[in-house]
Amino acid sequence: MLMRNMTLANPVDCSASVPRISVEFFPPKSEKAAEQLLQAASELRSIQPDFASITYGAGGSTRSRTLEYARRLKEDLGYTIMPHLTCVGHSRDELKEIIAEFKDAGLRQIMALRGDPPQDAQDFTPHPHGLAHANELVSLISEHYPECNVAVAGYPEKHPQAPNLETDLQNLKRKVDAGADFITTQLFFDNQVYFNFVDRCRAIGIEVPILPGLLTITSRQQAQRFCAMCGAVLPEALDQALAAAGSDPAAVEAVGLDWIHEQARELLKNDAPGLHLYLLNRAGIALQLIERLKADRLLP
Ligand SMILES: Cc1cc2nc3c(=O)[nH]c(=O)nc-3n(C[C@H](O)[C@H](O)[C@H](O)COP(=O)(O)OP(=O)(O)OC[C@H]3O[C@@H](n4cnc5c(N)ncnc54)[C@H](O)[C@@H]3O)c2cc1C
Repeated sequence: MLMRNMTLANPVDCSASVPRISVEFFPPKSEKAAEQLLQAASELRSIQPDFASITYGAGGSTRSRTLEYARRLKEDLGYTIMPHLTCVGHSRDELKEIIAEFKDAGLRQIMALRGDPPQDAQDFTPHPHGLAHANELVSLISEHYPECNVAVAGYPEKHPQAPNLETDLQNLKRKVDAGADFITTQLFFDNQVYFNFVDRCRAIGIEVPILPGLLTITSRQQAQRFCAMCGAVLPEALDQALAAAGSDPAAVEAVGLDWIHEQARELLKNDAPGLHLYLLNRAGIALQLIERLKADRLLP
């Protein structure tokens, strides 16, 4: 199950032979949350992530905040930033405007997504003059900002709305065929699902790098909630270990750190192109993880 010679298609200008480390932030909604984000981003500079991605809220709700924090982290803290962009609530013309704003801000990578419906809506409904699927957004970006590197989302355990993994993979291929440079996966806790996913992608001609997404767990309830939302399986052993840690935050973090460390070790040893860390605007576990991986000599 080895994935040899996988390299990212130059989303950032760094050596292809070194694993990429990327971190994901979400735009804060309050001053306190903003402080937490900036604190985490500042601390994480010590591990020099290859890039940081910044999510985009439902219904375009974070349009200005995504751009604001993209700028701040880029200009004040020197990050290479990949803003996310979703189709939710935007016409094609608005999406073109946002792409132009990202371009003007010197942001050279975009994570192109369909997006989830707003909380009060059941299903995703495209804007009447908008786009229905992420592959259309990839095409729009490729058309209006051809020098931009485009990432797309992949689902090792299937997107919740897809009837089966085969159909979902064919839809993923549409995104790649439209010009996506690499795939970042939804979070997963069992590496075998990632390895199987990569094999199945390769079998249908998806050749781009597939960056595994890992969650830094800080609470059992949160891990359960995320799994329920995105359809990832929380392994029994992990769930039990988190339950045993009870309400002691340090014990819970220790369980989460051990799990993500084991996952990361196996992924990097089997030539995954890097790690994408869903860190929920907290630096602590990511910093310890990178220290451990350096001690393992899996990162420089
Ligand atoms: C790495 C990552 C980052 C994310 N960041 C954000 C974020 O910043 N903001 C946010 O709101 N959400 C985010 N999400 C969640 C994401 O928006 C949801 O999972 C959403 O439901 C699907 O988005 P998508 O881009 O994968 O959609 P799509 O690729 O369009 O897929 C959605 C569904 O439609 C099907 N499909 C795809 N293309 C076609 C087609 N051409 N014809 C028919 N069916 C098709 C797919 O199989 C799938 O079931 C992220 C997810 C991941 C994995």
